[in-house]
Amino acid sequence: MRQNITVDFDQVLAFESVQNTGWIVLGTGVLKPIKAIHDLVREKHREGFDIHCVSFRSLKDRQEMIDFCKQYELPIESFTCTDSKTKTPILKKLNSVLHIDDSLSVCVACRMSEIDALFVDCGQLFDVSQKELAETFNTIKVELD
Ligand SMILES: [Mg+2]
Repeated sequence: MRQNITVDFDQVLAFESVQNTGWIVLGTGVLKPIKAIHDLVREKHREGFDIHCVSFRSLKDRQEMIDFCKQYELPIESFTCTDSKTKTPILKKLNSVLHIDDSLSVCVACRMSEIDALFVDCGQLFDVSQKELAETFNTIKVELD
């Protein structure tokens, strides 16, 4: 039987590009790929895992997520939007053996549910205690550019 790996969407598979006007930094609404995670997802799929996307986004965003993953030919089996609710019940239902997320609190919730977590470090942790917590997880560092 194939095992499931779950993956977050924002700041994991995709990030929104920004425009710096010199005065303020604005989101452009354009989603860009995070290549290191795309490579990891493809590698895990080749190894025989099924990949499922679980996001805090609301259902209205689901098609955008599907279209993005199609555009980059990512082998994602299903897309679940929790609408800001906890991801843990979905991850348990999917029997996830590994969850990949840029949220430390989601990684902590995984740990409490005995689901392995891979923390995606986008370089946006500035707080020392958060950095220390992050060090207790397997981590992949990514560049958003
Ligand atoms: Mg995220």
